[in-house]
Amino acid sequence: MSYSLSAKNRHTAWSGFLPAQALVMVSDRLCQSTDSFSARDGVAPVADGESLTAIATEVLGGREPAACAAGTGGCVACGLAATRQTIVFGEGSPRARLVFVGEGPGEQEDREARPFVGKAGQLLTRMIEAMGLRREDVYICNVVKCRPPGNRNPEPAEVAACSPFLHRQLAALRPEVIVALGKFATQTLLQTEEGIMRLRGKFIEYRGIPVMPTFHPSYLLRTPDAKREAWDDLKQVAARLGLAIPVRA
Ligand code: SF4
Repeated sequence: MSYSLSAKNRHTAWSGFLPAQALVMVSDRLCQSTDSFSARDGVAPVADGESLTAIATEVLGGREPAACAAGTGGCVACGLAATRQTIVFGEGSPRARLVFVGEGPGEQEDREARPFVGKAGQLLTRMIEAMGLRREDVYICNVVKCRPPGNRNPEPAEVAACSPFLHRQLAALRPEVIVALGKFATQTLLQTEEGIMRLRGKFIEYRGIPVMPTFHPSYLLRTPDAKREAWDDLKQVAARLGLAIPVRA
């Protein structure tokens, strides 16, 4: 595996993205790496007999996400049920080798019932693509499934109420690697009070699965200089998964 990004390209890797010339060059690699990346056919997607669908049905009460507005249906285990428009359960491949865990839905995510679709989500998509993957190859979810009003931080009681769903999702997915995006995902998965600055950049085990804590894309939008460190973290993840990082022109 070769990481041939120049220092300049590393720094700007997620701002534009790949030039057209590189996209053509990379397309074959993407197919190869994606094929092997997704090759989990025949592997049961659950560890404990529970499927993602069953967990989603429980969280959503068997309804569509948009039919769960303001606690009219679906989970009401914490106060966030009262102000949500939808429940954002998560999305991606049920056979994903790599799972990204964020904090909670924002305004746009709450509207669309999809995780990471706003500006931070667009950056996350570029981060995934920089690793030589497509968004649909991975699975993306959050610690809390309902939007904290005004995008405030989730409160401890909300994390406590919702995180069992996350643990069950991860047990059903059984990924090879988890990327914890930001403080709340990291602290929830690793049961620690340590900050993301101290924890990022090294694998820490969660129920037998290596977790790479790194910066949340929202933080990267506010602090572009931190992209280089986040990219270093993702390169470690790619190496762990045996992925070939696309070469840029
Ligand atoms: S945030 Fe989680 S625990 Fe709280 S109401 Fe939504 S789904 Fe239920």
